[in-house]
Parts: sequence; structure tokens; C-alpha cells
Amino acid sequence: MSAKHYFLGIDIGSTTSKCVIVDDKNNIVGKSLKTGGAGTKSPEEVVQESLNQAQLSSKDVEISCATGYGRKLINWTDYELSELSCHAIGGKYLFPGVRTIIDIGGQDAKVLKLDEHGSMTKFIMNDKCAAGTGRFLDMMANAFGGKSSDLSSYDEKSESIAQISSTCSVFAESEVISKLASGESLPNIVAGVHESVVDRTVSLVKRAGIVEPVAMTGGVTLNTSLVKRLEKRLDVTIHTSPIAQYNGALGAALYAKSKFEE
Ligand code: ADP
Repeated sequence: MSAKHYFLGIDIGSTTSKCVIVDDKNNIVGKSLKTGGAGTKSPEEVVQESLNQAQLSSKDVEISCATGYGRKLINWTDYELSELSCHAIGGKYLFPGVRTIIDIGGQDAKVLKLDEHGSMTKFIMNDKCAAGTGRFLDMMANAFGGKSSDLSSYDEKSESIAQISSTCSVFAESEVISKLASGESLPNIVAGVHESVVDRTVSLVKRAGIVEPVAMTGGVTLNTSLVKRLEKRLDVTIHTSPIAQYNGALGAALYAKSKFEE
């Protein structure tokens, strides 16, 4: 195969849209991420930005594949594939030899188990409830007028953990507000919020059964304090990547490439 073919993956998530373009040597030649998922302009914007970055036009894309919550809302890709399959393909590429992938995105949390060949053997998913997902963190940050991207630096300043006992995000939000009103420090409250997400993640991981090496993907990976807390509780090293949030789109692009090679 000459090095002139390009494959596009798009992941239309609940909160963000991601696009990745790979060449036939698996190099990532363009990528883009924007807030806004299904029903927004973000999907078409991330595609255009990725093409621009790769100095390509849409005609240069050999095969495309869509994944994510909103994948059925676009009809121009050649293929669509479930998020789970794409995360397994992307995870195998980003973390060679990985056996457990923990993915925490905007509206769900999932644990994927891979065998020694990188094939998915099991998954456990929480997509019924905001607790333990990025949405929970977004709501808690919003309760004190902040953003999810602020949470890690607050937690770094925590001296103890202010227990957040409600798992329901609506009640937990009230708890955050009342703890703030009663004078509890914000860093300690954020530590409590993080521990609550860690609790949920640990129980998901335990149900799946952990096998090392372990990697984490999804937007919540950017919350380094939370990842450290999860590592401590699971007592394992969690591998991450600066492009962990692109894992689904990357998997979709690699799947598109595999279809070309068939
Ligand atoms: P989806 O694919 O469902 O849209 P993502 O994997 O993109 O979800 O993850 C989105 C979540 O990641 C957000 O809800 C937010 O909690 C978290 N997140 C995004 N950016 C950051 C950041 N810079 N720091 C911490 N958390 C972040």
C-alpha cells in the first residue's frame, strides 16, 4: 500500500466531538476536538479542522467511520461502529499490551477488558446515571461557579476529604453548596467530589476484574488529581496519554483503515 491513503474517524460524544485522521502508516496527521456533540455544528467543524491540519480535502479521505453517542445522526461516513469497539481498537494502539481500559466520558463510564491479542473480552458500563461520569464532575464544578478543568488544581490544595455522601448528582450538588455555605474549604470539597467518582469507578472496575496493564481514556483523564486518587485506590499504575480523549475517534479511524486493508 503506498503512503497516500487517509482514513477518518469521528466520535460524536455527549459533550464533545472529536475527529482523527490517520495515514496508512498509522500516523495521526490531523485531529480536532470541540465542545458540543450531537445536534451541534461541532462534528462538521472538527472534520474541517482535522482536514486543514492534515492539508487534505474531504476527497482525499479513503474511508471514514463514525462512533459515539451521536454517530447515527450523521450519514456521510462509510461505516459506523460502537464506542466500545472503537475504544478497544484505539486503546490497543495507544497502549500496546493494555488489558484493562477505564473510560470516563461526559455521560458514561466504562471498563473494557482486552485479551493478550487486544480483542475485547468483557465490558462493564454505567450509562444510566450521571454519578461517576464527567457530567457529575461538570455539575459539581458548576455548583461553585467553576469548570471541570479547574477541579484538579483545587484538589491539589486539599488537606482532607469532605465526604460527599449523595451519589445522586442533584443531591450531591446541594451537598456541595451547603458544605461551602458552612465554611468547608473548596479544595476539601473537590477532594470529596473526586472520591465519590473514584468510589463509583472502583466498583465498576471490580465488577469487570482488573488485569494490568491498566489505561484510562476519555475527557476525565485530563483531571490528573482524580487519576492519582484512582491509582491509589486500585493500587495500580494507570497509563494515560495526552490524546486519551481522542481514543474513540482514533479507534474509528483505525477501523476505517482496516476496512481498506481487507
Ligand atoms: P464524550 O465523549 O461523552 O463527549 P469526553 O470523553 O469528551 O466525553 O469527556 C468529557 C468530560 O471530560 C467532561 O464532561 C469533563 O468532565 C471532562 N473534561 C473535559 N476537559 C477536561 C479538562 N480540561 N480537565 C478536566 N476534565 C475535563
